[in-house]
Amino acid sequence: MDPDGKTIIPVGVDVGATTVRVGVVDEAGAVVHLDRRPTPQAGEAASFFDLLTQRIREAARRFAEKISIPIDAPLAVGVALPATLSADRRYVVRCVHLPFLTQASIAPVATWRDVLFTDWRGHSGGTSRGSELVVQEANAKGASSFLDLPRGSTVTLLTDIEAALWGEYHLRGKTPPRFGHLRLGTGVGFGVVLDGRVQRLDADRRTHPEWLIVDESASAPSCPCGLRGCLERFVSGPALEWRLREHGLASDLAGFRRALDAQETVAHAFLRDTAGWIVRALRNIETRWRPDVVVIGGGVCRGVPQLVEAVGTLCGSVQEGSHMPIKGDRGGDSAGVLGAALLARDGVPS
Ligand SMILES: [Zn+2]
Repeated sequence: MDPDGKTIIPVGVDVGATTVRVGVVDEAGAVVHLDRRPTPQAGEAASFFDLLTQRIREAARRFAEKISIPIDAPLAVGVALPATLSADRRYVVRCVHLPFLTQASIAPVATWRDVLFTDWRGHSGGTSRGSELVVQEANAKGASSFLDLPRGSTVTLLTDIEAALWGEYHLRGKTPPRFGHLRLGTGVGFGVVLDGRVQRLDADRRTHPEWLIVDESASAPSCPCGLRGCLERFVSGPALEWRLREHGLASDLAGFRRALDAQETVAHAFLRDTAGWIVRALRNIETRWRPDVVVIGGGVCRGVPQLVEAVGTLCGSVQEGSHMPIKGDRGGDSAGVLGAALLARDGVPS
């Protein structure tokens, strides 16, 4: 409920490098009216946000009609981007896979911050709802490029990792106390909840963190983030497919999965090798964050379900000697939508 007693609709927007997902979280905590669209690969931020506005309003309208509330009910929208954000969540620091969303690509006279965050209010204190944009006032000031939402709506900017992390954490009953999530998709990221709080691991960051560097040899491949030997260069969807083609194994993840299902020896050797890179990162993560569990998910795991099991087996092997439990995800491709909507509704506990 908002201060006027209106029902607030929690909406999650998960912008992936290839797919934009928009959905509403209902009273039971389930994602409903999930809409999946291809992510525009070029264009301007303004037209992209027009598209998001349409999808958000459509999902909210369907939900409002279903539960018989006014279709102009205020929304709590969590927008998760495949990007790193400034510490105050006001603007995108870096968005490698969708460069048109980065600050630099927007005309100098209208930076991301000016266009999207005309009237920003950062709340603090015990009952904080996190940093929020009061859209009602932004609209009144004519920020026409921004998400055009019903009066009283709020927007919370998140990273894709934070949103998926929170979705998975929620789906496991918000336990255990140190909860890690490694996400393998077009990009690779890691997030951790410690005692119910989302840790800001990548605020203001332009590169992958050091605990995701798995190859420190002289021949380590360079990463778009500017470093070398990042896990992303080995196990992101595009990197994995490139390596599969290099090895003459398959042209894509589906082909790799078929080769694994057919028990091809060379495919299983490649799977163990790939799991080995992930385990290297997990070792760094274990040292740095001491998680009680790490849930592994993302598009790569959906494409190759055998991967998580291979990582778990290798991680628990005698030679690794690790006791950190590895588990598969529960939220599938809607974990980000779920987490984004819940964080927008309840505030980001950090
Ligand atoms: Zn990198």
